[in-house]
Amino acid sequence: MDLIYLDYAATAPVLPEVLDAMLPFFILRYGNPSGVHKAGRDAHKAVEEARRQVAAALGAESREICFTSGGSESDNLAIQGAAFARKEKGMHLITSQVEHHAVLNTCRWLEKQGFCVTYLPTDRYGRVDPEDVKRAIRPDTILVSIMTANNEIGTVEPVAEIGKICHDHEVLFHTDAVQAAGMLKLDVHELNADLLSISAHKFHGPKGAGALYVRKGTRLDALIHGGAQERNLRAGTENVPGIVGTGKAIEIAEAERETNAGRIRSLRDQLIHTVLEQIPGTRLNGHPVERLPGNCHFSFEGVDGEALLLRLDLAGIAASAGSACTSGSVEPSHVLRAAGLTEKEAGGSLRITLGRETTREEIEKTARILKEIVEDLRRMSSL
Ligand SMILES: *Cc1c(COP(=O)(O)O)cnc(C)c1O
Repeated sequence: MDLIYLDYAATAPVLPEVLDAMLPFFILRYGNPSGVHKAGRDAHKAVEEARRQVAAALGAESREICFTSGGSESDNLAIQGAAFARKEKGMHLITSQVEHHAVLNTCRWLEKQGFCVTYLPTDRYGRVDPEDVKRAIRPDTILVSIMTANNEIGTVEPVAEIGKICHDHEVLFHTDAVQAAGMLKLDVHELNADLLSISAHKFHGPKGAGALYVRKGTRLDALIHGGAQERNLRAGTENVPGIVGTGKAIEIAEAERETNAGRIRSLRDQLIHTVLEQIPGTRLNGHPVERLPGNCHFSFEGVDGEALLLRLDLAGIAASAGSACTSGSVEPSHVLRAAGLTEKEAGGSLRITLGRETTREEIEKTARILKEIVEDLRRMSSL
């Protein structure tokens, strides 16, 4: 039985071209980029080429890109780094209730260090109102962090507007663009972002690699202390294969973004349409229009989310309950709660995320199997 993989928001397979670009840097071109000899210079050149590729995809300059170990580190570096570098100016931060845990738990930790954080609520689609951001800004506000697009329900946030408000108030703006990279156009100037996080494995690059865009002139305290790598922002010998893979993956993702996103969106719309039409008692979570091309997020009345997920797995379909980070826990997702869903509604939720390799046949089969399983689970629970 072939696996139908519909969990692209959790991770995506490395593209063969990306792997090919990475492979030489394990054995043949193994130099340390800090080395002054030929091997070192060769690795250094590869890292700088990747930096150029990432910068080009984001409308940034090469020197504004800092390579990290992925989305979580980028979020931590942006938020902790900005908070500690600016604490003389103020100790207030603003974020939303629907952020990824890499942002939320960093903010919670900062509260223990004496910072004060406002967690903005959202509307029923998980959208932050830019006016709420404006109202929450105080004289001691130093940073606003609002994600570009939500990893659970796919809602795209009005980040360009929020960034504009931050700039008008001289507050730094960070956005976690991990889900958006490769799917939506990301231009740091259009978004008015000072800090922007990406993670390679979400756009067909390697796991454990990513980057943080840091607008020139933005001071950050480092998280990892040691050597002078990454302009003193991130010590440690560079993950050269990972960095090369990140550069190659984002270059391909950007070149093929419109074609891929268009195709994925049309399959996604077909799935949403079929499911809502053929399975009564279903609601679509997240914004109906302002959503990531590959995201479907459903709640099925009277169905246990975990049971649904297990049955889909048995049928060879890989999906997710809410988000990968919360599955396995019985707590309803913080995102669904922020969007105002009751515990009961949130419980029967299912995230299906499509990607580059998804086919129409897979979507049709998934819709058919999903209908059977939901009906079966409802029949069993009514007995
Ligand atoms: C996956 C994800 C992260 C974490 O990225 P890692 O590279 O897995 O650490 C952060 N934010 C969002 C929105 C994500 O989807």
